[in-house]
Amino acid sequence: MIEKILFIENGYCPTCKRVLFFTEDHMCQKCLESLEAIRLNRCLKCGREILNPGIRACRDCISMEYKFNRGFSAYGYDHKIKDIIYLMKFGNRPGLCRFAGKMTYRKLEKENRLGFIEDKDLIIPVPLSKAGLNERGYNQSELLALGLTSQWNVSEAANIVHSNNLIKIKETAHQRDLNRRERLKNVVGAFKITDPEKIRGQNILLVDDVMTTGSTLNECSNVLMGAGAKNVDILVFASVDD
Ligand SMILES: [Zn+2]
Ligand SMILES: [Zn+2]
Repeated sequence: MIEKILFIENGYCPTCKRVLFFTEDHMCQKCLESLEAIRLNRCLKCGREILNPGIRACRDCISMEYKFNRGFSAYGYDHKIKDIIYLMKFGNRPGLCRFAGKMTYRKLEKENRLGFIEDKDLIIPVPLSKAGLNERGYNQSELLALGLTSQWNVSEAANIVHSNNLIKIKETAHQRDLNRRERLKNVVGAFKITDPEKIRGQNILLVDDVMTTGSTLNECSNVLMGAGAKNVDILVFASVDD
């Protein structure tokens, strides 16, 4: 029995590595509270943090014409969030991915922004390729979306997350190894809609774990809008600041 307790997924805090109490859920209270520090200005379009408080839109939103409409980002990309995202991607931590979804929901709730997810017809996670999914065993963005809607007091919440329509058909190089122009090019043609009927006329929320240049989110939005979506907004757990 003791061994089992030691090996449960939320056995230790992903950021300070302290052993967790049973009352804590995937992250210790102290680390969770430290993430709640007051944020600076947010970009009015994509939702990322802007360090210069006098500016309303980030450089990417000024220089690029993103295909999505608006964005929400729960957290900046500090070292604690980096640790969490690393474990979500490479640490075999599906429960932590769902917990990140709950954290994002709480953030929306705190900021009176629940309307941002409640007005959507569909929630679509950014997909992994088949090989990527096989390797990881789960799609962190899908679990993030499911964690988000698990907090939602609506009976059809479980059916609103659609994971098999937008698919990734091309293996892409790791975005982190590329510069901005290469990132944009890298994702072109990588995504496809399998059932455009279900996309047409829909108000869609596209969900991903992290936004850096926004190239992947932009390309997915492009494909969704091309299939006739009425609107695409994006939501990420964390984004790199401007
Ligand atoms: Zn901690
Ligand atoms: Zn922006």
